[in-house]
Amino acid sequence: MADDDNVYDITIIGAGPTGLFAAFYAGMRGMKTKIVEALPEAGGQLAVLYPEKLIYDVPGHPGVLAKDLVKLLVEQSRFFEPTYVFDECVETLTRQDVRGEEVWRLGGASNAHLSRTVLLSTGIGAFEPNRLDRPGVEKYLNDGVYYFVEDKQALRDKRILIIGGGDTAVDWALNLKDSAASITIVHRRDGFRALEANLAELRATDIPINTFWELKRIDGDDAIETATIYENRTNEERTLDVDIVLINIGFKASLGPIANWGLEMVDKRHIRTDVFMETNLPGVYAAGDIAAVEGSVPLNLIVTGLGQAAIASNAAKQKIDPEARMFPGHSSEMKPQ
Ligand SMILES: Cc1cc2nc3c(=O)[nH]c(=O)nc-3n(C[C@H](O)[C@H](O)[C@H](O)COP(=O)(O)OP(=O)(O)OC[C@H]3O[C@@H](n4cnc5c(N)ncnc54)[C@H](O)[C@@H]3O)c2cc1C
Repeated sequence: MADDDNVYDITIIGAGPTGLFAAFYAGMRGMKTKIVEALPEAGGQLAVLYPEKLIYDVPGHPGVLAKDLVKLLVEQSRFFEPTYVFDECVETLTRQDVRGEEVWRLGGASNAHLSRTVLLSTGIGAFEPNRLDRPGVEKYLNDGVYYFVEDKQALRDKRILIIGGGDTAVDWALNLKDSAASITIVHRRDGFRALEANLAELRATDIPINTFWELKRIDGDDAIETATIYENRTNEERTLDVDIVLINIGFKASLGPIANWGLEMVDKRHIRTDVFMETNLPGVYAAGDIAAVEGSVPLNLIVTGLGQAAIASNAAKQKIDPEARMFPGHSSEMKPQ
């Protein structure tokens, strides 16, 4: 049910870095702001896919842990006290008349949210890791077998088997090499998708890299004791003593319900916007990884999303109040709360 007495000025779908920063700017413009997030926590890809990784290309932060950046963005977003709704996937976007005013209606599984403008900061959409179906994987899932590393400290002094050849697998091997008891990599082919510089750094370490090897099974009692791997051309087998198996074989992302909202897409992942980040639906904006500005090439980086968040929320302000200026003024001149 929608609460007709509670129409927001802007509702932001997605609490990744883009959505969080947009909430700050919308608040600074005096807009009544709500953020709706499908997951139980804020942070988007940073919180789910790489909380323990250092990010080097956020201005003013020569190196910041993804989870620390999320904490700071959440703190900043709270400055103007927006309404947060977690665990709510927005399924539908339609129009509704509220006492003569046409507003957007965002439908979730049980709730609906009414808003004059909408910002889609939905990133790559709903994402989940590619799963590996091998004996022992389910049994030890989140108890020795992990698709994401949430707490690096839990892996200290452990013997770790990393499966995969992409950025995540290589990054974790490098990231954990000084704190783990041992690291071994297995990858099913000899081509790696990881960044060349990281791969070169990995090859310069003494971490064993087993190409053309795959996981066959994981065994143990209360905890993992061994992992059996096999050479996929010869079927030769080896059993390794390990405590932890990290499976980093990529992830699937899908736009999900957003694809049915009548938005003009550039490709399967990007919504076309004008330079004010407005989509083909009036008053519906897109920013961050989901957005492709007409005439440019999407640059899926945190810093791009932050800039677009500022443009979109200021443009949304002008949409609902044509007398308002696009320029928000300087935050340094704001009165402290
Ligand atoms: C391993 C890895 C390392 C990276 N390293 C860097 C780096 O060093 N520097 C850099 O700048 N960038 C990096 N990136 C990219 C960066 O993470 C993204 O550019 C950034 O997260 C985009 O932010 P966003 O807020 O637009 O989207 P996201 O972070 O994807 O957040 C979108 C949010 O929207 C939510 N959502 C989606 N659909 C719905 C719906 N229908 N209803 C409600 N909620 C919804 C999702 O649950 C998610 O929380 C990296 C990415 C990966 C995967």
